[in-house]
Amino acid sequence: MYYNPPVPVSRRRLLASAAALPLLAKPFAPLKIVVAGGHPGDPECGCAGTVARYTELGHDVVLLYLNRGEGFCGGANLARCAGIRTEEARKACEILKARAAFAGQIDGRAIVDDSHYEAFARVLAAESPDVVFTQWPIDHHRDHRAVSILTFDAWLKTGKKFALYYYEVAEDTTMFSPADYVDISTVESRRRAACYAHASQQPDKWYPKQVEITRSRGMESGLPQAEAFLRHPESKRALLPR
Ligand SMILES: [Zn+2]
Repeated sequence: MYYNPPVPVSRRRLLASAAALPLLAKPFAPLKIVVAGGHPGDPECGCAGTVARYTELGHDVVLLYLNRGEGFCGGANLARCAGIRTEEARKACEILKARAAFAGQIDGRAIVDDSHYEAFARVLAAESPDVVFTQWPIDHHRDHRAVSILTFDAWLKTGKKFALYYYEVAEDTTMFSPADYVDISTVESRRRAACYAHASQQPDKWYPKQVEITRSRGMESGLPQAEAFLRHPESKRALLPR
């Protein structure tokens, strides 16, 4: 048995060692988050507040759109829609400090077959996500259902490597019972600006409904306004903004 006599430590030395502590703290490791949606505007509609919270905290977020919105851009010629809506998506991502990515399918003509499962899985794998949010699959729009199922298949293919959460969008999502909530009350103006970046989609028609949803999710969770998610029960938990 050895005895180490206590070493006297001066106050100055103690303070100097305390000041050095932050340098020894674990370095911040940003998460890579992908929010997948059918069309430009879907990830923003369901998750813009959460995306803004994540990027404020220094995490890296990509909005991954299944198509470029070729099927509708207000009164403009359909041939111009992909260009108009790609630009709107880029603007929304700039507001949210996120990055836009596109999975190469066509609006209104989503294909879910072997080669498209493979193609989507490759796009997602290239991002190496820690967390993926996708649309809830019971939805009125085929493209929303498609992106949900393509994401789910890609998740299985990775061996459930990333955390998988589902989100809701006004009017189209049905039978959704969320369990995780993110307070978006401090980022409401950026959320609104990101949704209104999709001017060709006439946000006055759907944005107020999405606000009603997040107010109602807030009431469920004791927050002023909340976006709500459902984690797949076999998925690991993600670090959600608190
Ligand atoms: Zn959509």
